[in-house]
Amino acid sequence: MSKTVFMEHTAQIIDGKIVSNRVLGEIASQTASMATPPGLAVILVGDDPASHVYVANKIKACAKAGIRSIEHRLPATSTNEDIAAVIDALNSDTSVNGILLQLPLPRGLDEDNLVQRIAPEKDVDGLTIPNIGKLVAGLDGLVPCTPQGSMLLIREALNKTSPSLQGGGKGEGLKDIDLSGKNAVVIGRSLLFGKPMAQLLLAANATVTTAHSKTQNLDEVCRSADILVAAVGRPKMVKGNWIKPGAIVIDVGINRLDTGKLCGDVDFDDAVKVAGAITPVPGGVGPMTIACLMANTLKATK
Ligand code: NAP
Repeated sequence: MSKTVFMEHTAQIIDGKIVSNRVLGEIASQTASMATPPGLAVILVGDDPASHVYVANKIKACAKAGIRSIEHRLPATSTNEDIAAVIDALNSDTSVNGILLQLPLPRGLDEDNLVQRIAPEKDVDGLTIPNIGKLVAGLDGLVPCTPQGSMLLIREALNKTSPSLQGGGKGEGLKDIDLSGKNAVVIGRSLLFGKPMAQLLLAANATVTTAHSKTQNLDEVCRSADILVAAVGRPKMVKGNWIKPGAIVIDVGINRLDTGKLCGDVDFDDAVKVAGAITPVPGGVGPMTIACLMANTLKATK
């Protein structure tokens, strides 16, 4: 008598390290033929340990992508005027193509105004009002890095095989993503991630819902999603039974547990049994953010 064996479903794991290395390679092949390599200036104020780690990773990615890295390290005691003076000098320096002000700034500094002081054409984080306006208007501009990277991971889950850096009005590599007929849910509405992510999904023809802390019946809302994006900052909040079977799940959250381990906003072990494709934390969206920073620097140079 034959025995029926039920295999447990396991989602495709979308490996952000592989995709980000591919993007960095595509950038390197373009910068190799440029007479002067693009220059990316990073302004790091104070001693936030996480920021120092990010900046070290950015320097490594610059080396892989053939981008010249310029660092300005300022003490935590710097004033708004000190930082503004560095931004102004970089804005008018023609050898600098991209400027990144590493956030968060030490308490008491005027983050919002300092970010807006960056020349929009050098704003590789895509956070100045002109770049946000272009994103909403569907015009070509610099798109925030983490949402851009998340879209490239959705593209990966859809098995697009062409290079990621095709350019186009919706940001590098986003032109050939078509989510017509798909429901997308983004949990989180920050300016840094949730809002631009919703715009990119909309530009790709998805029907988009943005959920937040005041959303009722969040689990039900999530179950309607063919594409579920979580950017909340709450460890393992999204459970397996919140996920529509076969959905693409993009986990943006980075949370440190008491054990010292990192985890996302999605309960990965639970979700992997239901989703069609899912990003891990670490090794999913994180590496894509830095790769897209390099892509934006190349775009700003062009
Ligand atoms: P944020 O500014 O704190 O925004 C969090 C959002 O989550 C808010 O819109 C908030 O709603 C919503 N929220 C909070 N509690 C909720 C709940 N119980 N149910 C539903 N929504 C809830 O954070 P962020 O900057 O967008 O970042 C979110 C996460 O992504 C963090 O873990 C961050 O570390 C991570 N992140 C990762 C990368 C990367 O490179 N991988 C980049 C950026 C951010 P309200 O607006 O109603 O308060």
